[in-house]
Amino acid sequence: MATRTPTSPEPPGAAQPKPLPPRRKSAVFIISAPSGSGKSTLVNRLLSSDPQLLFSISYTTRAPRGNERPGDSYFYISREEFEQRIARGEFLEWAEVFGNYYGTHQSVWERACREGKDLLLDIDVQGAAQLKQKIQDAVSIFVLAPSREILESRLRSRSEDSEEVILKRLAEAAVEIRNYHRYDYIVVNDDVEEAAATLLAIVRAERVRRERMEPRIRPILETFGEIL
Ligand code: ADP
Ligand code: 5GP
Repeated sequence: MATRTPTSPEPPGAAQPKPLPPRRKSAVFIISAPSGSGKSTLVNRLLSSDPQLLFSISYTTRAPRGNERPGDSYFYISREEFEQRIARGEFLEWAEVFGNYYGTHQSVWERACREGKDLLLDIDVQGAAQLKQKIQDAVSIFVLAPSREILESRLRSRSEDSEEVILKRLAEAAVEIRNYHRYDYIVVNDDVEEAAATLLAIVRAERVRRERMEPRIRPILETFGEIL
């Protein structure tokens, strides 16, 4: 008797694998914030509490900081290579921030859709505006520290930057904050637990928006005999 291999036909009556339920549309979540507001802290918490999120690893021309490793938060490339990639139209969005280029590669969105995940991007206000034009139902979230004084003390407590850089970041924050009205949601990062819970609530609620649920709903309606 021939041995059964995983590819041989199932004997009659054998249990068939259950087809996966149709999925809703993938969502895009953009998070922006002035440096020091706690964006990385909140993004890391969100990623560890929600495995359905795919973090978009950007390309940048800035040098790695501290113990940053290529492929963790960024792919580090030269200005020349970045400009070649711009010319080839490889970026979904890109911007110059603090004198360096940063960009999101087209393939990350395709990958999120293919893997049935939602995309999470940590990008600046210019990139957020570009992305909103390309992906209109992208959800944008702006994170704010509760005050300038608290932002300053967080920048200092992080002990990552020189006095000069801290003052530059505070001046940039005053400019960036004026763009808050372009965002769908504002999260004030006062208590970190509460801010993290609010972010997760936004992600969960946005996932079940009717427009995103259409592919998931249709087969359910069909079981009720609905003509669509
Ligand atoms: P960003 O990514 O926005 O630059 P970080 O996540 O690095 O900011 O946070 C800046 C500093 O503030 C870090 O030392 C972080 O631990 C701290 N921090 C973040 N959120 C809070 C919070 N809600 N309360 C107090 N400290 C916070
Ligand atoms: P940092 O160098 O501190 O990691 O990031 C500096 C700024 O660049 C942050 O505001 C961050 O959100 C933004 N940034 C990171 N990646 C991208 C990207 O791919 N596109 C855009 N437009 N901004 C980015």
